[in-house]
Amino acid sequence: MADQTMRAWAVAAPGPVEEEPGPLRLVEKPVPVPGDDELLVRVRACGVCRTDLHVAEGDLPVRRETVTPGHEVVGVVAGLGSAVRGFTVGDRVGVAWLRGTCGTCAYCTRGAENLCPRSRYTGWDADGGYAEYTTVPAAFAYRPPGDLADVALAPLLCAGIIGHRALKRAALPPGGRLGLYGFGGSAHLCAQVALAEGATVHVLTRGAAARRLALDLGAASARDAYAMPPEPLDSAILFAPVGDLVPVALRALDRGGVLSIAGIHLSDVPPLHYESDLFYEKEVRSVTSNTREDGREFLALAARHGVRATTHGYPLSRAAQALRDLKDGRFDGAAVLVNDLS
Ligand SMILES: [Zn+2]
Ligand SMILES: [Zn+2]
Repeated sequence: MADQTMRAWAVAAPGPVEEEPGPLRLVEKPVPVPGDDELLVRVRACGVCRTDLHVAEGDLPVRRETVTPGHEVVGVVAGLGSAVRGFTVGDRVGVAWLRGTCGTCAYCTRGAENLCPRSRYTGWDADGGYAEYTTVPAAFAYRPPGDLADVALAPLLCAGIIGHRALKRAALPPGGRLGLYGFGGSAHLCAQVALAEGATVHVLTRGAAARRLALDLGAASARDAYAMPPEPLDSAILFAPVGDLVPVALRALDRGGVLSIAGIHLSDVPPLHYESDLFYEKEVRSVTSNTREDGREFLALAARHGVRATTHGYPLSRAAQALRDLKDGRFDGAAVLVNDLS
């Protein structure tokens, strides 16, 4: 594979995706050479995550010049570093956001590698999946269980895994009452697992189409984001990046209830009222990235319960258009790029 080139999208100049020529360029790059502990992966499909938009537009600081975005990659192993064991050329693998941790800090050694200060991310610190090929440290590659098609699998690798960690952080008791505030890509996957495991799910979201989807998937109720659910909640997850909803969700909790906040970004939280919002041992928790264990657990649950993402396919050659459409809200579900470059 040495000396060969491939086509890849690169963030040439971070800025608004709707302006011409836009931040992304389709360029020729050398096919990456895997490090000793890495896999070379031929990309088959790559999901489009909102974080890719933040990378392209410069909302996230540049950590690698002309980075190739994309961290929901499904592909096949095309090459192996000399120290890799347990993978073979041709294996199907998933490449996700977390691609490296130090392994020695206090967080890593207590099973909280999501908090590692030296963690590295695909499509931000290293080139990702908007390309013909990408690389991944073998220790951070997933082996997708089940026979889910590439396009259906891709969105599970970020939206799905984060939703799963948010659900764990929400500490829902078995058969409990769960409220989901916001119902996009991550929430609709999280809801499917919670329902399959016996939860009663109440969805509180702005969009009428999202409320219909929630009911179709089996939610017990679907109301506006600021409405009260029909019964008190044991746990709630805030997926909408709206701080105003924090006191709303806290008031919907039963005594001892837990609110987990799934997003990286949240608008400011208004002042909380201790008696109505926090007393009776209500808890608020944030969610930061995920561990590999979260990822393996979620992919196994998704396979067992037949979790399905609503997807919208684009050829990889039209990745810039997919990001513009994501920003404009022009499609339902998750956009997935299918490799038409090789
Ligand atoms: Zn993502
Ligand atoms: Zn660490």
